[in-house]
Amino acid sequence: MKQNRKKQENPSPLALRICACGCGIEFQPRRSDQFHLNSNHFNFAYNHGPRKVKYAMENFVTKAIRKNDRILEKYFRLFKQDTVTLNLVILQADGFDSRYYSGVDSKGQNKFFCLYTYAFMLTKEGSNTNVIIKRK
Ligand SMILES: [Zn+2]
Repeated sequence: MKQNRKKQENPSPLALRICACGCGIEFQPRRSDQFHLNSNHFNFAYNHGPRKVKYAMENFVTKAIRKNDRILEKYFRLFKQDTVTLNLVILQADGFDSRYYSGVDSKGQNKFFCLYTYAFMLTKEGSNTNVIIKRK
C-alpha cells in the first residue's frame, strides 16, 4: 500500500496544466513555458487561434476574388476570344459575386473591375445584366 501511494505522487515541481489548445487534456508540463500537451496541440492552437479570427474577413475577400478570377478564366478559355460577353446569371450560377474585385480600371466610359488575371465590366441590356470579360 505504501509503495502504491508513492507512485501516484507527482515528482515535478510544476503543477499539472490544462492544454491551452482547448482540448481539455490535463498534462504534466516538462518546462515552465510549456502550455500545450505537445507540438500537435501547439500547432492546432496556432492555426485556430486569434490570428485566424483576425484575418478571417481578409481571407474571405481574398478567396472571393480568387474564385471570381477562376470563374472568368473558365469562360474566357471556353470561348477563346479577346473579350467574352455573358449574362451575369450564368456566372452567378457558378458562384461569381461582382461585389468582390481588387481594383477598378476606368478608360472613358468603360469601367472594368479587375481581378488577378481577368477583368470584367457590367452592362445593362433591358432587364439583363451582361458581363464583359477580358484579360487585364
Ligand atoms: Zn490540446
